[in-house]
Amino acid sequence: MDTNRIVKGLGLKATPKRIAILEILSEELVYLGPEEIWKKLQVRFKRIGLPTVYRNLEELSQGGVVIKVIHPNRKLYYYYCSNSNHHHHFVCIACRKVQDLEFCGEEQIIKEVEDTLKGKVISHLFQVYGLCRDCSRANAIST
Ligand SMILES: [Zn+2]
Ligand SMILES: [Zn+2]
Ligand SMILES: [Zn+2]
Repeated sequence: MDTNRIVKGLGLKATPKRIAILEILSEELVYLGPEEIWKKLQVRFKRIGLPTVYRNLEELSQGGVVIKVIHPNRKLYYYYCSNSNHHHHFVCIACRKVQDLEFCGEEQIIKEVEDTLKGKVISHLFQVYGLCRDCSRANAIST
């Protein structure tokens, strides 16, 4: 994976820290919290501060390659997704796995906003939380 190219594609300078963050995220199939990413970064950047990590994650997430997961526990996590088609995510709150959800209710939402609220939609956020297949099975066995 050419992380250098991906960072540049987001209109950002390909700094070693941004590339390292993208590498860390792309190696995981689960979402990570800023502190966890920070700990992994400290292996290479001993003096990196947490605010730098937050700032870089925020910048990377503007482009859609790094997905922000707004957890029901109100904490923010990040996840790498290379799927450039418009889609949403199904997030497992037990094992942290994130799966692409090739579904978007945008058309109905736009219709509802325009017809009922007489407003205009600019963008939308949609994320679904639950238990993945493995976790819901494990849950059924243990209960
Ligand atoms: Zn799961
Ligand atoms: Zn995705
Ligand atoms: Zn959508």
